[in-house]
Amino acid sequence: MCRYGLDALLSVTLAPRCAACASVLDTPLAGPICPTCWSQVRAVSHPLCRVCGDALPSWRIISLPLELCPRCRRRRGAVDTARAAGQYEGSLRGILHAFKYEGRRGLAAPLAKMIRGAGGDLLGDADAVVPVPLHPWRRMRRGFNQSDELARRLGVPTLRALCRTRATPPQTGLSAGARRRNVRRAFMLSPFLSRAHAHRLIEGSIVVLIDDVRTTGATLEACAVTLKAAGAREVRALTVARATPPTSTALRLASTAARPAPARQEP
Ligand SMILES: [Zn+2]
Ligand SMILES: [Zn+2]
Repeated sequence: MCRYGLDALLSVTLAPRCAACASVLDTPLAGPICPTCWSQVRAVSHPLCRVCGDALPSWRIISLPLELCPRCRRRRGAVDTARAAGQYEGSLRGILHAFKYEGRRGLAAPLAKMIRGAGGDLLGDADAVVPVPLHPWRRMRRGFNQSDELARRLGVPTLRALCRTRATPPQTGLSAGARRRNVRRAFMLSPFLSRAHAHRLIEGSIVVLIDDVRTTGATLEACAVTLKAAGAREVRALTVARATPPTSTALRLASTAARPAPARQEP
C-alpha cells in the first residue's frame, strides 16, 4: 500500500519517463522501464540451431537430426554453443541502450534474469562465467562493464579471465570479415591471474562467456579462442540479445550516405 502510494506520488510529481519509450512511468519504483516495453521484448523463436542458437526458419529445413543452421553446418568455431534471450530490436534495443549508455545499472538484474531463462541449460553444469572485458579506458569512461554486471548475477562463479590487449574501434558499420579482423588477437588472459592460477581455473573446465549483444559473434569467438588456448574444455556463450548482422548493401549505404552521427551507438 505504502509502495503503491509512493509510486503514485512519484509518478504525479516527478513524472519520470521510461528509459526505452519515454512514456510516463506509472510505477517508477519498479525500475526505469515500463511494463509495456518489457512485455514487447521478442524472444528468439524456436526451433534453434543447437550450436549458435539462431532461429531456424522451420523444422522442414533443419538437417535432422543435427539441427544446425547452414552456417554452423559449414564451419564450427571455438564457441561450442551460444544462446541469446531476445532479438536486438524494438524495446530490447532501447532497454540495452539505457543499460549501457545511460548508466542504468539497475537493469542488470532483470536482464540477467532473461539470460538465466534462455540459457539455464548452458549454465547448469558450467564451472564459471567469463564476462567479455572492455578496454580499461572504455570501462573507465562508462563507469562499469555491462558484461560483468550481467555475469555476476547468474548464480555461477565469475571468472574475470580475460583482458583486452588493445582498444579496438567500435564494431559498428563493419562487415563480418572486418569485425573478425578488428578483434583478432585483441584478448589475452588477465595479467591479474598468475599463469599457474589461470590454468588451474580454466584447464578442463566448462566456461560461459557473457556479453550484452551478439551480432556476428566475432568478439565472442576471439575470446573463446583465448580460453581454448588456455585449456578450456568447452566454451559457451550467452548474451541478452541477438542482433541481425548488417547486409553488405546496408553497409554500403551507411558508408556513402552523408548523414549526422547516429543518436544511438550500436553494439
Ligand atoms: Zn517503455
Ligand atoms: Zn548455427
